[in-house]
Amino acid sequence: MIAKWENLTRDELAAIDKESAIVCLPTAATEQHGAHLPVGTDAIILASLIDMIIEKETFTEGSLIFAPQLPVGKSNEHMGFAGTLTFGTQTYYAMLHDLASAIAKSGFKKLVLLNSHGGNTDMLNLISRDLRIDLGLNVFVFDWWFTSFWEKGLQGLKESGKYGVFHACELETSLMLYAQPQSVHMALAVDEDPVASLRDNDYVTVFGPYNAGWKTSDVTSSGVIGAPTLATAEKGKKLFDYAVRELVQIIKAFAHTEY
Ligand SMILES: [Zn+2]
Repeated sequence: MIAKWENLTRDELAAIDKESAIVCLPTAATEQHGAHLPVGTDAIILASLIDMIIEKETFTEGSLIFAPQLPVGKSNEHMGFAGTLTFGTQTYYAMLHDLASAIAKSGFKKLVLLNSHGGNTDMLNLISRDLRIDLGLNVFVFDWWFTSFWEKGLQGLKESGKYGVFHACELETSLMLYAQPQSVHMALAVDEDPVASLRDNDYVTVFGPYNAGWKTSDVTSSGVIGAPTLATAEKGKKLFDYAVRELVQIIKAFAHTEY
């Protein structure tokens, strides 16, 4: 079964076999995405993907339950541009811990932190270990910014260069052109690479290998990092088709991983 937590009754949730069940807690963001994309982009993409999974996929490993999505995350890097909402580090940690605790108290044993915003990733990796230790949960972090997830999906589709896929970019704009085209303003799209100091550098770039604690306005003046002008709805459809299939395979692998 694949279902949304909020659509099940108390007794249906209680009756789920907790040995085989896996709960995904979707974590997104509400933050500036350049002039051409809505601030809800990360949340809209993740919610659309979850709806597509529920519509198209089956899950025979047990029950796959999507908890209510958190549409606001840790986005303080984008402050200074209008429209960004963010939790502070301590607030976001406490809220994730409280929600995971409530999920554990309902008897669930496996939790996936299912993330669509790169600014959340450090927090999710950090808290995953605390949730293991504090609550006894098996916790997995699914992140698509600092893994090969999109690199694989973009093969044969990506037309932009090294920095073309990062923020409000070829990837996110293509996904939005497919999921919610009425909210995308392509006439306002501009391409922008990161500033030279965080690009033409053997050691410190926005992709690492060594990190600087940058805020977005240090890196880009438009708020875009990437090449949204190369985005198309056709690419978006192919990327969603890939992501639906691949994410279900990854969640199945989590379901089979006991530790
Ligand atoms: Zn985004």
